[in-house]
Amino acid sequence: MKPGEGYIKFVVNWKKTGPVIPAEELVKITAWRDILYSLGMIGADKKNIGFGNISMRRKGTNHFYITGSATGSLRNLDDRHYCLVTGYNLNENTIACTGPIKASSESMSHAAVYKEFHGAGAVIHIHHSLFWASLANRLPTTDRNVEYGTPEMAREIIRLLGEPGTLEGRIIVMGGHKDGIIIFGKDIDEAGAYTLSYYNEII
Ligand SMILES: [Zn+2]
Repeated sequence: MKPGEGYIKFVVNWKKTGPVIPAEELVKITAWRDILYSLGMIGADKKNIGFGNISMRRKGTNHFYITGSATGSLRNLDDRHYCLVTGYNLNENTIACTGPIKASSESMSHAAVYKEFHGAGAVIHIHHSLFWASLANRLPTTDRNVEYGTPEMAREIIRLLGEPGTLEGRIIVMGGHKDGIIIFGKDIDEAGAYTLSYYNEII
């Protein structure tokens, strides 16, 4: 369905606060973001629209820290560029977050992974055209008619996580979100290592 035809619009309920990400988590996430940014998997397109985001589960919860909306194009981030997602409703397409910056609409795809796979401690969403083209439909791939930021995309991710091999492979290709790939791991180091190993296979 298209907007205006009963489509559920993505809503972010944002409580603006000071920085929320702990220093220790920031160091780990920054190290991986620097690598992915330098390889062009996080960055900005020709129209200077940012892409790519990274998140980390807040230990013992279903909440997660994530890079804020429109930060993909920035070379260096600090604690003002991260928020904490404290709630989400996949059916109503709503996200609740706190922090100095608003969560991006792609947070819903991260939320789907944390909700469905309790072993996930980190999620990386990158864009890369060659990477995407070589893996789409060879590895678990969401329906190409489903757009990012929709409840249907979250449901597609949940469906694929339930299929044999997806949890072990640590990767989902977003069929209807060109160049978009999701990689997850038990922690950020594992998710990052999987990203590089898939990348090295195809580049
Ligand atoms: Zn994306």
